Amino acid sequence: MIFKIRPMLRFIFLLGLFSSIAFGAEKSNSKANYQATERYYQNIIRQASVPIAELQQFIHYLPKGGDIHHHYVGALYAETYVDWVEQKGYCIYRNNFKIETQLEANQGNSSKECISVSQLRADSLLYNRLLQHWSDKDFNNQLPSDQQFFSTFAYFFPIAYSYNRAGLEIIKNRALDENLQYIETTFMLSPSKGDKKVDQKLRTLNTNRDDLVINQTLDSSFADFQLDKDFQVAISDYVKEIDDHFSQVNDSLFTVKAQAYALRNEEPDIFFARLYASFVASQKSTNIVGVNIVGPENEFVSMRDYSLHMKMARFLKQKFPSTKLSFHAGELALGMVPPEGLRSHITEAVQVAGVDRIGHGLDIIYERNFNQLMQEMKQKKIAVEINLTSNEFITKISGQSHPIALYEKNGVPIVISSDDEGVSRGSIGQEYLLYLTRYKPSYATLKKTIYNSIEYSFLSKQEKAAQIEKLNNKFAQFEAKISLFH
Ligand SMILES: [Zn+2]
Repeated sequence: MIFKIRPMLRFIFLLGLFSSIAFGAEKSNSKANYQATERYYQNIIRQASVPIAELQQFIHYLPKGGDIHHHYVGALYAETYVDWVEQKGYCIYRNNFKIETQLEANQGNSSKECISVSQLRADSLLYNRLLQHWSDKDFNNQLPSDQQFFSTFAYFFPIAYSYNRAGLEIIKNRALDENLQYIETTFMLSPSKGDKKVDQKLRTLNTNRDDLVINQTLDSSFADFQLDKDFQVAISDYVKEIDDHFSQVNDSLFTVKAQAYALRNEEPDIFFARLYASFVASQKSTNIVGVNIVGPENEFVSMRDYSLHMKMARFLKQKFPSTKLSFHAGELALGMVPPEGLRSHITEAVQVAGVDRIGHGLDIIYERNFNQLMQEMKQKKIAVEINLTSNEFITKISGQSHPIALYEKNGVPIVISSDDEGVSRGSIGQEYLLYLTRYKPSYATLKKTIYNSIEYSFLSKQEKAAQIEKLNNKFAQFEAKISLFH
């Protein structure tokens, strides 16, 4: 027996030795590949005149992890929406580029006014003018830029949810083209109660600063929502629709998850109902991973109710403590609102609402005690979602005026994201190009920023681990490829 076991043991020992040598070789290979990639990247980025096309090639193959500040409706290009108008047989008004969905109404109109998509495409000048209305294309200060950006949505909104599966497939294929494995998107606006059910108590809450009164009012609305069968059915339908679509789109190569959201420029009763629905929806489905508040931050209602919104979020977070929050906050620049309006939005999102991430965070240096605030964000690991293209367009903040470097210097985690690449007519690759050319991060920082997009996502622990493993493999391949050629 001994004689038989010995060769076997020897074999096992040798097998272990070989595999550990092979593993060691692989490890040192991967280290060498990393170093070669780092060298190649630093060589490009440190040139006085950065070879942009070469850098774009590098970015094209670069694994990008996740895009976690993403809006489904704003991610699709206007051309897709025009295709959908055609498929539905709707027409578009020549004079104002609005979609007519009521076909009977159109029959009464002169066909000269509301034209088909084929008529539109036959007139290339008119078609280009539509693209200029439905996106930021060729922007030439026709409108204030923030208004141009946010007003695009009203044009394509009537068609935006007509082909959800097709829209998600476009987004998925684009992500795969760009080596992006995960997207967290604000997919559909959460339901509200019918407009007729105005809650006057809630509607007048913005004039009351007393927390006790606010909480009592929210409590009574909350109880009312819980008992409102129609509202609960609307929330369940909302969840089901997201589950149906996402379960068909997600596979081993690509994952999309949703954030439910409310609009900050709606009246408090509608806003609170949507925020409530968002929290409830995120509890009901693993496809809905968090809650967001979106919309132009400098509009009258958004500014008036900002503190109230944060208190509403705090109230709901106490009811549903496990809900993850990422709010747009501080998407403002000096001059968009009076200076007092720049003093507390990020602070309140962090300290009152208790968010897990901040979208934009542009006005940080105007916040009272911004140094302490950044320390708090670092300690609590509150990541900031950086959207360089839309920041520049909406707020004119770019280059060295952007606080991205300040966040990094203070140890606040950042992620690079696309916001509304269809409206901006950009891509996630373009966002990385701006990040690299403007701020020239080291390769290690670049990699860290990319890993942040998974680490600070709202995926579950297990899902995150799986995505990190996927990203590790992608980087191993990427670095091997770069080291082979350079
Ligand atoms: Zn956004």
